[in-house]
Formats: sequence, structure tokens, C-alpha cells
Amino acid sequence: MTTAATTRRGLSLEAQGLTCSFGGFLAVDRVSFRVEPGALVGVIGPNGAGKSTLFGMLTGFLEADAGRVRLDSVDITSLQSFQRARLGIARTFQVPREFGSLSVRANLMAAVPGQTGESLLRLFTHTGRIQREEAANNAKAEETAAFLRLTSVLDLSSANLSGGQKKLLEIGRALMTNPCLMLLDEPFAGVNPVLVEEIMQRIRDLHRLGMGFLIIEHDLAALTRLVETLHMMDQGRLIASGSPAEVLSRHEVLEAYLGGAGVDVSSQPEEHTR
Ligand code: ADP
Ligand code: MG
Repeated sequence: MTTAATTRRGLSLEAQGLTCSFGGFLAVDRVSFRVEPGALVGVIGPNGAGKSTLFGMLTGFLEADAGRVRLDSVDITSLQSFQRARLGIARTFQVPREFGSLSVRANLMAAVPGQTGESLLRLFTHTGRIQREEAANNAKAEETAAFLRLTSVLDLSSANLSGGQKKLLEIGRALMTNPCLMLLDEPFAGVNPVLVEEIMQRIRDLHRLGMGFLIIEHDLAALTRLVETLHMMDQGRLIASGSPAEVLSRHEVLEAYLGGAGVDVSSQPEEHTR
């Protein structure tokens, strides 16, 4: 893939003391960590651990009660989600947010931020520019779909996609914003094993080209084969960080995960190419 998305330089992302509560319930409690530029990092934890809430604060969809978010050492805590997106952070949602009534192509094209045609007045005054933008976005949508192996469904309604294809489209919509860092919320949940491998391969391709990833996942086996660094959350706190093998060997991690019922950690992390 040769888009600008993969040629922008990597960004570091730092969480410092991030805290969020909902009506007195502490969902995320003073979480701090750092994602290095171009790193491939995972966050695991049981349901309700606070993973999606953490993502919300990192991407500006949720306001933190306390703590800071820094992108390449610049404090972005007070920036809104669209401003953070412009700086190169993209996210996907646990439940895909595609427009079911639109085609895959239209969904991809609609994900490009700040299009001239979004202003009603400019529809009349900037006709040529809008046409050029549309042509560029269309070409980018086709390139993104080809990369994600979605070309054959490009002009189908996205409502007809399988669960796994919807996850791929969600990644595609994030890619259309030219990110340097992608935050993926459960990209493998509810996806059949063949497509899980497909999604993992696309993540590896992008990572090889320099893109950073922070990935939340409930599916431990898939994530431990993919990431270099793993953070474990439980009850709003970060309780362990390190390589997947290190984190999964920790007694408190096994206790927290599945209430100590045990986790299959037999799949070892793969060698990384960078
Ligand atoms: P995870 O993604 O790890 O499963 P979440 O971040 O979604 O966890 O949720 C953490 C906790 O915060 C859960 O107990 C959840 O019920 C609660 N929570 C999340 N979002 C809200 C909200 N908007 N309002 C009230 N409680 C919430
Ligand atoms: Mg979640």
C-alpha cells in the first residue's frame, strides 16, 4: 500500500494517570503507559475492566476526570476527537459503526474528514474542487478496499457484509483518515477464524510500513500472537505490562482473567520483523 497513511512518521502516545468514573463508579483508575512510535501494543482484560473507556479518553470521545494524554510529548488532553484524528490518531469501535444503508465504497469515502462538499454553500462555489476531492477519495477508497480484500463487495450495501468484513470495513474507515496510530477496539470479536488471520495479516502489513497500533482484545490467543507488548487491565487498573509471555505468566493476570479459571497461553508470540 502506498498511501500517505503509511508514509506519515510514527507518533508516540502517552497516558498519564487517566481516570474516568460514571456516576461514582470508577471505570478507569489512574492508568499510565506509553506507546512508542510504530509499536504494536495490546491491552487485555476481562469484560468491564475499563478498556473501551480508556480508548475513549485517549481518542477524545470521553472526557477524563483526571490525567493527561500526550502525542509526541504534546498535551492533547483538551482536544476534541476530530482534532486528535487530524493529528493522526484513528480508532475503531467495538461495535462497528458503518452506515448500513450505504455501500462499502460510500462508507469509506464518507470517513475522510473535512471534505469541501460538507459545507452546503461550498457545493455551489467550489464545484471543481469538490469533484477533484471526490475523485481522489474514490481512488483512495478503491486502494483501501483492495488492501483489505474488500474489492468484490465495494459496491454492495455494507448491511450485507459478514461480521468479519464489517470489522475490516471499520479498519478501512480508520485508514481513510491517514492515521499514524490506530486504536482498534476488539477487532477479532465475533469474527470467524479465517478472517481473524486475514485481519491480523493486514495489521502486520501496516505495522511493517511503520504504523503504530494499540489493540484491545478479549481473544487472548490472537492478540498474543500479534503484539510485542501487552498491558493487562482489571477493575480499571493496569495490573501488568511486558511481553505477552511475561504478562501471561504472572499469577495475578491468570487470577484476574476468567476469575482464575485458567487461560490457554500455549500459543507463543511470533517473531517480529521490526
Ligand atoms: P471493557 O471495554 O474493558 O469491557 P468498559 O470500558 O466498556 O470495559 O467499561 C468499564 C466499566 O464502566 C464497566 O463496568 C461498564 O459497565 C462501565 N461503563 C462503561 N461505559 C459506561 C457509561 N457510559 N455509563 C455508565 N457506565 C459505563
Ligand atoms: Mg470494551
